[in-house]
Amino acid sequence: MQAARRTVLHVDMDAFYASVEQRDDARLRGKPVLVGGREGRGVVCAASYEARVFGCRSAMPMSQAMRLCPHAAVVRPDFAKYTEASRAIRAIFERFSPEIEPLSLDEAFIDVTASLALFRSARRIAEEIRAAVRGELRLTCSVGIAPNKFVAKIASDLEKPDALVDLDFDLAREPDALAARLAPLKVERMWGVGPVTARSLHARGYRTFGDIQRAGERQLIADFAESGAHWWRLAHGLDDRPVETGRASKSVGEEETFPEDIVERAEIEAKLVAQADEVGRRLRAKGLFAQTVEIKIRFSDFETHSHARTLATPTDHTHELRQHARELLASFARREWRAVRLCGFSASKVTDAPGQLGLFDGEKRDRLSKLDDLRDRIRDRFG
Ligand SMILES: [Mg+2]
Repeated sequence: MQAARRTVLHVDMDAFYASVEQRDDARLRGKPVLVGGREGRGVVCAASYEARVFGCRSAMPMSQAMRLCPHAAVVRPDFAKYTEASRAIRAIFERFSPEIEPLSLDEAFIDVTASLALFRSARRIAEEIRAAVRGELRLTCSVGIAPNKFVAKIASDLEKPDALVDLDFDLAREPDALAARLAPLKVERMWGVGPVTARSLHARGYRTFGDIQRAGERQLIADFAESGAHWWRLAHGLDDRPVETGRASKSVGEEETFPEDIVERAEIEAKLVAQADEVGRRLRAKGLFAQTVEIKIRFSDFETHSHARTLATPTDHTHELRQHARELLASFARREWRAVRLCGFSASKVTDAPGQLGLFDGEKRDRLSKLDDLRDRIRDRFG
């Protein structure tokens, strides 16, 4: 059986820290900028493209970079600022797919396979991401589109900065096209090929992907055993590692203890609805869907009741979460109701996959998603 065809984007911000500094300080624009510590053994965290012209690179000792480019502006890194920008970038990705694997503050893989039906094409998603990053954050990024992570990462780097490179060949239909496109690339571009490995590949006459392709798998295995088979696959642009979203949280919840007990059911309902809104926002921010929702009510005598339900279709929609909160509250009998000191709403058994019908359940869900997106954006902007 053949694995389903996937489409993966690799998005890489251009000279990220340096670009953020240039964005925020007009005096730095168009000038060589080195971000990093100046004193002692400080290293360059990022070099603007203007500084790279002089040979400055990240991870280089600052003293060396300053010798190469003495008129560069040296800026102390502000990681709080970069983290903030990184969060905003991630929020843009999340409009297009929940399948995001961040590699660092400034790069991520995004599996857009399931999003293609909604957004028509990967190229369109990539263009919209680039436009949003530029328009909303005033930063540029480079994007690679490919059938897998390895090729996507190569693609994003090919024409950097501010580029979109589409290597999304359908390997089943045109198996040789991708290999041909990769053939001229140097073996140093392969993952796991550092200077030492590169030297041993060179020693056997392998300088480019094409050299490895032409030698054939048998020869590579003869030369390098298992590693040889691995390089032969990479040389053809083959890689089946999934985009790993690495989600930590198993549940997302909100609860509140009131300064004074609340008797009115309607008042508790309003609290639960607000909590459901917040849970929805957090689910969407993480690309998660709730399979189980639960409300918790603690009465003034500390007796605590939880009412939960399992959903037929996992959801991240505020509208649906609110509805469940209301219905779960309604399931409390009138006679057991009394003054409440705490209430909470939580989503558990969270999953990164929407229900079977989730993502494609026609217009209704589409409309709910748009509403939620709007809600989140307004909230992000105005709190
Ligand atoms: Mg980068």
